Amino acid sequence: MALDAETLNKTEFFKRTWEFEDKCEAETDKAIPAMGVKAPQALSTMGRLLAYLDAIASCAWGCPGGDHAIERLIFRACNRARGAVRLLRLGFYDESLMLSRANGEAANLLWLFLKDKTAIADWKAGARRTSSPVEVRKALEKFSDPMLPPVDQERYKLLSGIGAHSDAGFAPAAHNILDIPVSPGEPLEQGIVLCLNEVAHPLSFIAIAALVLVKLPDDIKKAAKQAIVDQFLAVGSFDIKSRADYLAKQREALAKALEESEDTEGT
Ligand SMILES: [Zn+2]
Repeated sequence: MALDAETLNKTEFFKRTWEFEDKCEAETDKAIPAMGVKAPQALSTMGRLLAYLDAIASCAWGCPGGDHAIERLIFRACNRARGAVRLLRLGFYDESLMLSRANGEAANLLWLFLKDKTAIADWKAGARRTSSPVEVRKALEKFSDPMLPPVDQERYKLLSGIGAHSDAGFAPAAHNILDIPVSPGEPLEQGIVLCLNEVAHPLSFIAIAALVLVKLPDDIKKAAKQAIVDQFLAVGSFDIKSRADYLAKQREALAKALEESEDTEGT
């Protein structure tokens, strides 16, 4: 059906797309509990972890005074994670990954603060070595710690390609085996699990840094540490790094199944 000028002038586009985004949200909420063991756990442990981070960023256990620069950074990361979860529930998977990419930058920056005591002052002064995500990553690579950087070059490049830079090699909104773009609003298990794991990854590192950089009562620290451990354990293996291999294997299996069905039909 061709759209005439009158229809386009109304808010018909939003009305229609919001309808199926809302439907996607309801279907996603229904589907996650049935997506194995890890995906539902990742979501619930993330909620617990975000509750701690939100409270830490809001001085819930005492105000340290000062400029609240670290608290504000944690607050921003917390909000991005909430936004990323919201977007994945609506079927905006690439867009959710873009927010997780930004949280990857926050995770790396916070870990630079842990490793290099002069970095916070440089960050507050706007120094390039702390304002450039590449410089921050390179600085963390120098520590030869297998945990560092929290978001390495490979993960950052993939998240950038799919979520932020519109790389020609990635089809938009194509979280399916055939790599076919699908209008956001269609629940896709692959997109849901991928986005959940990618929200969780930097968030755990952000939370570890938050517990070191913000003074907290011991019992809160202990409970928050447990939430971080639970979050780590709930993250599944399907992520932005394993995605290409997984899809290639799925396509191979599909091609084989089609071949076999054609052989059966021919007999
Ligand atoms: Zn305060």
